Amino acid sequence: MIDKTKKFWTGSSAADIDEYLRLYSELDELDVHPVICHSCGKDVFALKLHGDEGVIRVTCAECGTQKILLDGEELWHEVRTKNVKCKLCGCNHYNIRIGFHRRENGDVKWVYSGERCVQCEVLSSYADWPVNYGPTAEMEKNI
Ligand SMILES: [Zn+2]
Ligand SMILES: [Zn+2]
Repeated sequence: MIDKTKKFWTGSSAADIDEYLRLYSELDELDVHPVICHSCGKDVFALKLHGDEGVIRVTCAECGTQKILLDGEELWHEVRTKNVKCKLCGCNHYNIRIGFHRRENGDVKWVYSGERCVQCEVLSSYADWPVNYGPTAEMEKNI
């Protein structure tokens, strides 16, 4: 459940990111998917990203497996990415989910990332960016 009583909203579980992203983006129909480690199945990651360019690399806290999400691989060496730390508690481990805003033909038009600090439970969106090509089915699978 999302606690909206404090300055920064918190979520008691990773699933709260779905609602948070829909409120943040003001898009009820936002299609939100969890990022899960393909090696161990856990959902806690350290993040390195560029907030506007659509480049997010997740590192699994459990097994260390790294993955660059969506189509960010192409830009990884071209943009300056930053390690993300929680603005409240300084922790660098998150649950992360990806929200897709779709065009009428189903292709993705805008991507939102939603994060939940696993220590203090604060919810945030560190990255969102437009997608200006199609079809997007292949890149969507890469989470
Ligand atoms: Zn893992
Ligand atoms: Zn925190």
